[in-house]
Amino acid sequence: MKNWKKVSLLTTVILLLLLTGLLYIFNITLSIPSSDIEFSPGDPVSHIDSVCNSEKPRNIIIFIVDGMGFGHLSLALQTQQSEDQPLVWQEFAVKGWHDSRSAYGALTDSEASATAMATGTPTNFGHIGIDPDGNPLKNVFEVASEQYYNTGIVTDSYVWDATPAAFVAHIRNEDDARSILNQIAASELDLIFGELEDVGEDDIPEIEESIEILQKRFQLLNRSLELPTGSESTNPIAAIFKEDEIQDMNSSPNLLKLTETALTYLSAKDQPFALLVESEEMDAASHENDSKRVLHGLRSIQETLALILEFSKAQGETLVVFTSDHETGGLAAVSDFDSYPNMQIKWATKEHTAAVVPLFADGPGAECFADVHRNWEIGSVLNDLISKPPYNQDVNED
Ligand SMILES: [Zn+2]
Repeated sequence: MKNWKKVSLLTTVILLLLLTGLLYIFNITLSIPSSDIEFSPGDPVSHIDSVCNSEKPRNIIIFIVDGMGFGHLSLALQTQQSEDQPLVWQEFAVKGWHDSRSAYGALTDSEASATAMATGTPTNFGHIGIDPDGNPLKNVFEVASEQYYNTGIVTDSYVWDATPAAFVAHIRNEDDARSILNQIAASELDLIFGELEDVGEDDIPEIEESIEILQKRFQLLNRSLELPTGSESTNPIAAIFKEDEIQDMNSSPNLLKLTETALTYLSAKDQPFALLVESEEMDAASHENDSKRVLHGLRSIQETLALILEFSKAQGETLVVFTSDHETGGLAAVSDFDSYPNMQIKWATKEHTAAVVPLFADGPGAECFADVHRNWEIGSVLNDLISKPPYNQDVNED
């Protein structure tokens, strides 16, 4: 037995030496296949700002779908084809992407990315409407109000959630809902539709108190979303729902109905408007790797987008920007040959990823987004467009 072991060891050593020699002679490198390699993200390339020569859009609608990447979009396109739905995604004149990194690095949270898009300045995690040093940043809604735009926010999440907050507030922490609500009530905002969380903690007040704060500025609508008439028709309005009450396409009202009501209210006014629509569904579902909820949520997003595009095409002077703040989940639609053509949804993580995200635009000013490749450049372009000389509001005398 001992001798056999010796011979076997000797053979292995000789074979290994022979293999190494062959690899050396033929200059072959062996690599171990691995899907998990570490890498260092490169330094961000600073983009050269070019002035956009587009005409000023009368109205601007920004639709931000939290957590939506190209994987989610691919899924929407694949399921759309099978369900024979209108191809809303193909109606955009400009289809591009942006890198959603924060000032801190390749990853971002909603606070940092929404702030970059709302202000034109990259910032750190947890920073809402403030730069990395904590200085307040002017947001596109504040610029729009100075230019006599009406402004509105529709969200299927909390009204004080990071994305809407970045267009109104200047604060460090998303969880300080009371401060954000107070800043919303002190803002120039004309419309806010969304949910409230009923926690009653120090920084998240109970619904009654939250509504009391909002009523300092807004007239509260009932569930049927009946708009104020007569002398009250110009009052800023709010529609508030409980947690998860409006997130579902089957709920009444839903994101589609809320967006429709917002467009009716804002377009009835003499002034132009800037409207932010936010859907939180892709992020919430992707953090849970909940594939069914993603598929369900995509329907609500597509139908709301179809409504927005229908409005903008009929109105003719409305810019629509569709984008996301970051990708969540590393979602991929895959299949093996055994189950093909059936597809499976696979997930890489329950966190945010560094994937680039869709950036689509349509209407006057859309071409200005063709060269945008960083989230903060969206804010720069929006600021440029809103700051152009006032939109011609029937002032022609002859
Ligand atoms: Zn998230």
